[in-house]
Amino acid sequence: MEEYKDNFDLPAKAPGTALKGQGNTSPAVDRISDLMCRELINRAIKAQKMSYAPYSHWNVGAALLAKNGNIITGCNIENAAYTPTNCAERTAFFKAVSEGIREFAAIAIVGGPDYTIKDYCAPCGVCRQVMMEFCDPKKFYVIIAKSEDAYLVYTLEEILPMGFGPKNLGK
Ligand SMILES: [Zn+2]
Repeated sequence: MEEYKDNFDLPAKAPGTALKGQGNTSPAVDRISDLMCRELINRAIKAQKMSYAPYSHWNVGAALLAKNGNIITGCNIENAAYTPTNCAERTAFFKAVSEGIREFAAIAIVGGPDYTIKDYCAPCGVCRQVMMEFCDPKKFYVIIAKSEDAYLVYTLEEILPMGFGPKNLGK
C-alpha cells in the first residue's frame, strides 16, 4: 500500500454511498475517502473471524490505518479470568506500537454476537483513551460499520470530548 497521505479529500467517493443519508451528520465523513473506509472495514471484518470470545460470544474486529500506509488488524481476546481481556481496537494499537508505529489516521471497527455483524459497534471508553494517547483527536477518524456499504465516521474528539491526553501533561 502507498504511504498514507494526510489528505482526506481524495480519492472520490464510490458511487451509491450516501453516507450522510445514513444519519451521520459528522463533518468527518467528508474528510476520509469512501475507498479507504471500505478497505479498512473489509480488513476489520476479516479480523473479526480471529476473535477469541468464548465467554461473551461478542466478536469484534478492528483495522487500524497508520500514517505510513500500514493497516494493522486486531480482534478481541477474552480470558477465563475476565479482566485480562483485551479489545480488538487495543490489540491493533498495541500490535502497531510494539512494531514501532505510533502515528495513525483512522480505525474501522465491526462487531456483534457469534461472529455476526447486526449493528454498529462503537469502541469502549478504555479504547477511546488509548486512541487519545497516540492520535490527534481532531484528525483521527473512527469508522464504525455494519458492512462496507453502511458505516459512520467520527473524529476521536467527537466520541471523546475533552479527552485527557499527553498534552495535558505537557507532552
Ligand atoms: Zn475497548
